[in-house]
Amino acid sequence: MTVTHRPPRELLLDYAAGNLAEPLALLVATHLTLCPESRREVSELEALGGALLETAEPESLSPDSLDRVLARLDEQKPEAETAAAPPAPRAEPGDTAGPSRVPGPLRRYLGDGLDGTDWRRLGPSIAEAKLLGDRPAFKTRLLRIRAGAAVPLHTHEGSEYTLVLEGGFSDELGHYLRGDVSVTDSEVTHRPVADDDEDCICLVVTDAPLRLAGPFGRLLNRFVRF
Ligand code: ZN
Repeated sequence: MTVTHRPPRELLLDYAAGNLAEPLALLVATHLTLCPESRREVSELEALGGALLETAEPESLSPDSLDRVLARLDEQKPEAETAAAPPAPRAEPGDTAGPSRVPGPLRRYLGDGLDGTDWRRLGPSIAEAKLLGDRPAFKTRLLRIRAGAAVPLHTHEGSEYTLVLEGGFSDELGHYLRGDVSVTDSEVTHRPVADDDEDCICLVVTDAPLRLAGPFGRLLNRFVRF
């Protein structure tokens, strides 16, 4: 199996630099377990980051730069305090999907299987299982779409990151299979349809609500937060 839709380089770079919030770090770490090419890219970026740190010359800092850095740290204090979150998820060298087919980084959040997960129905063909509770700004969940069924046409107020764990889906942008990542935003209106042969299970991270599209969807938006 080859992953054809890999995350954008900036996302891998932020992961390598440890800059991603926990939900996105979990999504990238899980993708890395399924994609040797992205693993290679992240190791290269990490090596590059290390080399840059080593070659940075301390003398090039002007005398007042320490003061400026300290002043900036003071400004950022409230953020630094709220950032006392658990360590960001990382893909470990020994991580595999294992017999349960749940990749290692995700298994640490889920226990051992997708079936034991607490699924909540969103409609006749779609169910969700929330992960990671209330992280500021992010909603992290598993979505299960019945084989052949569609997620209603929608657009996004922010960014939506989707990693396929089981089955596959197609939308206006392509066909996504296990390990593939789709990144969409307010520029994209789409209607993901699960492949016919099996249910599609995805890890989905959003940083703002989805907006249902079409006349009926616009009406529904007044009543539901999808
Ligand atoms: Zn979407």
